[in-house]
Amino acid sequence: MRGYVNIPGSIYCRSCRICGARPVIALAGDVGYVIKCPNNDNHYQTKPGAIDINDWNAHNSVYDCNMNGKAALAFH
Ligand SMILES: [Zn+2]
Repeated sequence: MRGYVNIPGSIYCRSCRICGARPVIALAGDVGYVIKCPNNDNHYQTKPGAIDINDWNAHNSVYDCNMNGKAALAFH
């Protein structure tokens, strides 16, 4: 268990611009939380601290989670 939390479907968030996955919230040590791609730590992730979906969305600005096939596959 690595402390990932799925973001509820009612919250608008864009999918990873590299692989299309819906992001997850992960605990980042003592400093807070990051929003990150669940598939690869090298894909975009927010700076540790408060949960900042706006920052994630600003850096993953092409598709929302319902607009491409790969995102749909990851959306279960
Ligand atoms: Zn990704």
